[in-house]
Amino acid sequence: MLLDLTITQLSQGLKAKKFSSEDIVKECYSNIERLNPSINAFITIIDKDVALKEAHNRDKDRGSDSSVLHGLPYVMKDSYNTQGIRTTAASNVLADYVPPYSSTVYQKLVDAGAILIGKTNMDAWGHGASSENTDFGPVKNPWDQSRVAGGSSGGNAAALAARMTVFAIGEDTGGSIRNPSAWSSTTGLKVSYGRVSRYGCIAYVSSFDTMGPMAKTVEDCAHILEIIAGIDQYDATSSPQPVPHYKDHLRDKLTDLTLGLPKECFGEGLDTEIKASIMEAASLYKKIGINIKEISIPLLEYGVPVYYLIGTSETSSNLARYDGIRFGQGRGEFTKETMRRIMLGTYALSAGYYDAYYKKAQQGRTLFIKEYTRALSECDAILMPVEPMVATKFGELINNPIQNMLADIYTCQTPVGVPSLALPCGFTKENLPIGMQIIGNMFAETLLLRLGYAYQNNTDWHTKKPNIGEHGK
Ligand code: GLN
Repeated sequence: MLLDLTITQLSQGLKAKKFSSEDIVKECYSNIERLNPSINAFITIIDKDVALKEAHNRDKDRGSDSSVLHGLPYVMKDSYNTQGIRTTAASNVLADYVPPYSSTVYQKLVDAGAILIGKTNMDAWGHGASSENTDFGPVKNPWDQSRVAGGSSGGNAAALAARMTVFAIGEDTGGSIRNPSAWSSTTGLKVSYGRVSRYGCIAYVSSFDTMGPMAKTVEDCAHILEIIAGIDQYDATSSPQPVPHYKDHLRDKLTDLTLGLPKECFGEGLDTEIKASIMEAASLYKKIGINIKEISIPLLEYGVPVYYLIGTSETSSNLARYDGIRFGQGRGEFTKETMRRIMLGTYALSAGYYDAYYKKAQQGRTLFIKEYTRALSECDAILMPVEPMVATKFGELINNPIQNMLADIYTCQTPVGVPSLALPCGFTKENLPIGMQIIGNMFAETLLLRLGYAYQNNTDWHTKKPNIGEHGK
């Protein structure tokens, strides 16, 4: 199957004319037609003939200097504006919204010659950890269809795991790339704040939102990041830091490096099989010459309240524009979960409560930044689980708002802005995927990708794929 190949392998095969973009696109659509009716990874599927025509054109204009993504099909979370293509953020509010302009990331992928085949399902506005908070029906996990695929970029992870796409573009505010990567056994990178332009992306928490790649391997993520990263004149928060040639550094020797394991991450509340897998990953790193050190992040448990107070405050303000007058349907169309967030944020920002909640949370954020800065001065990167539990059954998170927030305990360090790479590190006895994450200093993406690459070179978890029957069940 072509879709089992990596971006490097596909790009080489295309250039050597072993197969064509049309072949790859056909394979995607055949899997989409067979599997998507049950998995529900897509909100909008691009017309097959349009995608095939584009593939045909890419096959014709391919040159030796074409981008590595040239002619490769991909999917995008439905929170990126794509000119002329419906963009809903998974909400009925924007059910018929067709943007008149494109996000910078989409434009860069168009320029690279990549082929968009669909906009993927997600938790509405990025609000969730399970892709159940969507007006387009929940996404099913290809590994076990009685379970969620993770969220909020769940459609991306499910599409990758079920081989309906070569790669995917997600968004991570408090775990939305990493959580579905862990629960669906794919690789995803939450980038440093400012690394990738957010222009044209539907805002959730403007001071945390980041845009990043999801793929089958670390190397694929490196390829994609190199193309989508960089300063953007349309996004004042995009960083002027030069974009390294990530993929050229993947094989750099890993010497004198220390991985920190925060003791607070391995205590109560963590599934024992997940704990065992992360410890096994730590031993593997030790075997390949990396120092392992216990560290401490005492404020870890305050991450959830800091994240959710600032997050809901900003989203209550960002969603104020959806008043039913300028775009889309009225506010009555927001889901219960989104209403809850708007109400919590409005409350935290209102006179009399601002000092007690919003300001306290901002002070907490400063302490949190200091704490991570200290922890990351004691080691080069931090290794921890992505989620305390494996993919949940339908209803477990969406019907339990507190549990829904607690699922983010390890991923809500995003107020700090640091990058984190999530990658598969095992399976439970029930064959459910387990993921780990490696967190680094600001703009340490190269180091994270090197560490992830070394791990994938020594393991084969990332090559496993779900066993989905003929009819997608
Ligand atoms: N689960 C988190 C939330 O609901 C993650 C969201 C995200 O990263 N977009 O806020």
